[in-house]
Amino acid sequence: MIVLMKRNATQEDVGQVTAWIESAGYKPHVSEGVERTIIGAIGSDQGRSLLKSIAFMQGVERIVPLLKPYKLAGREFHENDTVVRVGDVEIGGSEGGASCSQFTVIAGPCSIESEEQMMECGYIAKKAGAMLLRGGAFKPRTSPYSFQGMGEEGLKILKNVGEKMGMPVVTEIMDTKDIDLIEEYSDMFQIGARNVQNFALLKRIGQSHKPVLLKRGLMTTIEELLMSAEYILAEGNTQVILCERGIRTFETATRNTLDISAVPVIKELTHLPVIIDPSHAAGHAKYILPLTRAAVAVGAHGAIIEIHPEPEKALSDGPQSLRPEQFYRLMDEVRILHDAMKNGIGNLL
Ligand code: PEP
Ligand code: MN
Repeated sequence: MIVLMKRNATQEDVGQVTAWIESAGYKPHVSEGVERTIIGAIGSDQGRSLLKSIAFMQGVERIVPLLKPYKLAGREFHENDTVVRVGDVEIGGSEGGASCSQFTVIAGPCSIESEEQMMECGYIAKKAGAMLLRGGAFKPRTSPYSFQGMGEEGLKILKNVGEKMGMPVVTEIMDTKDIDLIEEYSDMFQIGARNVQNFALLKRIGQSHKPVLLKRGLMTTIEELLMSAEYILAEGNTQVILCERGIRTFETATRNTLDISAVPVIKELTHLPVIIDPSHAAGHAKYILPLTRAAVAVGAHGAIIEIHPEPEKALSDGPQSLRPEQFYRLMDEVRILHDAMKNGIGNLL
């Protein structure tokens, strides 16, 4: 349930409503908009009748039941776009429109393999104009015999390269036991497709102050993705970016099927930023450029792209990793297309 306060409601009125919500066994979430304050009452459905009397409290305009199963993630509760800050980079914004104020590219190798390889990726990403650096140290591999990542040694390399390049870094977390470690080395957590419904991990990450890149699962509906985001938000971490990375369908020509329609749907339903991962969707380097063009055109807030100085030698996801020249070309196109969306086509829509 959400409580819409009157435009002229005072801080004291807000305080009384939040105190009542707490006394009814719910968690109040206050969202101060430009025009008015909205207060969400988050908790289980028991005690709902207690909340109804809030409608008669001072400064309250009306109470609105939330129809969607997610609450904090929905636009009903939080109308304006959330802008997530990772280091000094901002992701999100532009109120769900067809074009975003910026298109943020995160680039780097699938796995951190060595100091030299990561440094080369850092140079390529920086030179091309990517804003954030990625690199996996704990890898979710289908086979237990495949390269599992460098662990803490890899995290140290990633942090060091990020600092040298002046770029915030993101890396995947698979286990709650690694939270303190990853928090020390990374500017953002990535929760991968396979862990999107690892609720213990989501809850624990929700208690962190670090931003989170939450990927859609191979078999996750948009609503389920938003419910997973809700787990993080409900614990108090509001800095969540969603990522469409392809879902499993009957089609085998690509590794997964990029659900491009997820972007406008997600932007309609939630205030959280949404980016696209064309690399894991396509599984082939040759499709990354056209899919990234589509990401810009459809209004995504950014993209996460795998690059490698020598993809044929990559320890994971080589076939979908872009070579330096391919990535430079992609970034040039992204700039042109995004400017066109922002200044021209975007304004017509
Ligand atoms: C990755 O980013 O390298 C990765 C494993 O992604 P996903 O969880 O989307 O498969
Ligand atoms: Mn990968």
